[in-house]
Amino acid sequence: MNALLSVSDKTGILELAQALHAQGIKLLSTGGTAKLLADNGLPVTEVAEMTGFPEMLDGRVKTLHPRVHGGLLARRDVPAHMAALAEHDIDTIDVLVVNLYPFESTVAKPGCTLEDAIENIDIGGPAMVRSAAKNWKDVAVLTDASQYAEVIAELKAGGVTQKTKFALSVAAFNRISQYDGAISDYLSAVQFGEGVADNQAPTLSQFPAQTNGRFVKLQDLRYGENSHQQAALYRDLYPAPGSLVTAKQLQGKELSYNNIADADAAWECVKSFDTPACVIVKHANPCGVAIGANALEAYSKAFKTDPTSAFGGIIALNTPLDEAGAREISKQFVEVLMAPAYTPEALAVFAAKANVRVLQIDLPKGGASDWDNGRNAIDMKRVGSGILLQTADNHQLTLADLKVVTVKQPTPEELQDLLFAWKVAQYVKSNAIVFCKGGMTMGVGAGQMSRLDSARIASIKAEHAGLSLSGTVVASDAFFPFRDGLDVVVDAGATCVIQPGGSMRDDEVIAAANERGVAMVYSGVRHFRH
Ligand code: 5GP
Repeated sequence: MNALLSVSDKTGILELAQALHAQGIKLLSTGGTAKLLADNGLPVTEVAEMTGFPEMLDGRVKTLHPRVHGGLLARRDVPAHMAALAEHDIDTIDVLVVNLYPFESTVAKPGCTLEDAIENIDIGGPAMVRSAAKNWKDVAVLTDASQYAEVIAELKAGGVTQKTKFALSVAAFNRISQYDGAISDYLSAVQFGEGVADNQAPTLSQFPAQTNGRFVKLQDLRYGENSHQQAALYRDLYPAPGSLVTAKQLQGKELSYNNIADADAAWECVKSFDTPACVIVKHANPCGVAIGANALEAYSKAFKTDPTSAFGGIIALNTPLDEAGAREISKQFVEVLMAPAYTPEALAVFAAKANVRVLQIDLPKGGASDWDNGRNAIDMKRVGSGILLQTADNHQLTLADLKVVTVKQPTPEELQDLLFAWKVAQYVKSNAIVFCKGGMTMGVGAGQMSRLDSARIASIKAEHAGLSLSGTVVASDAFFPFRDGLDVVVDAGATCVIQPGGSMRDDEVIAAANERGVAMVYSGVRHFRH
C-alpha cells in the first residue's frame, strides 16, 4: 500500500505518517512535507523522484502527473485499469492526505494583494483530492487533521471501512466546493467592486464580500434595523434589470437598512403599474398608492390616502418627475425618492434639501408587463440557521380572470378599481384590506393578525384622512372565513369586493354580499405577504 501526503498545514501529519509507516504503508510526499517527514527519521519518497519530473514553476506543478493521478484513479476491480498501471509501471495510491494552500486565511489578512491571493490558489491539491474522492472505494482521502485519528484506528483494526471511505469522499468534495466558493467569492468581489486596477484586495468585514458565490457586497451599512445591529447590503451577482440594487443615488444621505427595505417595497409595487403611478411606503407597507395622468397627480392622490403616515415616507414613481411634481413632493418630509428619471428642474428642487436621498432606477425594459425580466425570481427569508426559498409572488391578475359570484355585477369603473386594489393588496402585509376608488387607495389595513382588525383599521384611517369610503371597492388578500369581515367593509361603505374565494363558508359570504346588495368578485389566487 502507498500513501501520498502533501499538506500545507502540517498539524498532526508526523503522527499520521508514523502510524501509516507502522502499518507498512509506503510514504510518498511533496517537497515541504517530505522534508518534515525525513527530518523526523521517516523513510519517504519524493513525488518528484517517483514521477521523474521535478517540482517546477514555484510549486505550481508538483503532483500533476499521470503517475500520481493514475495511481489514484485506477479502479482496482477493473482488470483493464490494473493492466494499464502495470504497463506504465505505476503503483496504486491507497491513502491520500492533502490539505490545501491557505487561500481563505491569506485573503482574510489585511493588506493581502491580488497577487498573494492568486498564488494561494491550490491547483494540484484539489486535483488529487478529486481523483481520490471519485475513486472512494479504493482510496481513503483525508483532507482535515480531525480525520487522522479515526483512520489510524481503522488501519490498526485491519483497514479503512467502505463506510468511512465514503464519508471521507463526501467530506473531500465538500471541502473542494467550499474552497472554490471562497476563490469565486473573493475574485468576484475584486471584479465587481474594489480595486482590481490598483491591485488592492477588497476589505473583508464581518460581512464577507460575497456569499455562496451568489451575492456580491455593495456596501456595509451604518447599522441594521436598530442601531445596535450591524448590517450590509448585497446584490445578486446578476441582478434583475430594474431592481432596487441597480439604483443610482443622485444625492442625499447614505441609505440605511430600513430605507433600503422600504424603498424596495415601494419600488416593487410601483413598477407593477403600466400607467403613471406613485407609491408611498412606511414601515414596509404602502400607506398611499395612486395612478394619475402624471407624477404630480399620482403623488397628490397617493398622499391624500394617509398624510399622517406619509410623513418621512419613501416615495416611488414609475414615471419621470418634473418640476411641478417635485415642488409638491418637497412640501412633505421625504426620506427616499425614487423615479426612473428627473428633469433638471426637479433635481434643482431637491438640491436645496441635501438630506433627501434621490435615487434614479431604470424600469425593466419591457415595462410593467415584463415580469419575467424585471422581477426577482426567488424570494428568500432567513429562519434560525436556515433559509426559506420560494418563487416570488409575481402573479398578475387580468380582467379575464375575474369571476363575479353575486347577483350584482360590478360597473366598468369598479372593475378597473378592483384590479388596482388587488395589485396594491399584493404589496401590503397580511392580513391586507385595501379600499380604493378612482385609481387611489382610500384606506389601507395592513399586517394585522385578524382580517377583521385590518378592515376596521382601514376604515378608521380613511376617516382620519377625511376620506369617505362610500362607493369604494375593497380588496382582501385572502378569503373571508366568515361573513363578519364582509359586513365590516360594507358597513364602511364598500359596494364591490375582490377576494380569492375558497373558504369553507363561501356560500355564507356570497349570501351576505347578496343580502347587502354589493358585488363580489373572486380572483382565484391569494396574496399572503408576511
Ligand atoms: P509541500 O509543503 O509538501 O511542498 O506542499 C504541500 C502543498 O502543495 C499542499 O497544500 C498541496 O495541496 C499542494 N500541492 C500538491 N501538488 C500541487 C500541484 O501540483 N500544484 C499546486 N499548485 N499545489 C500542489
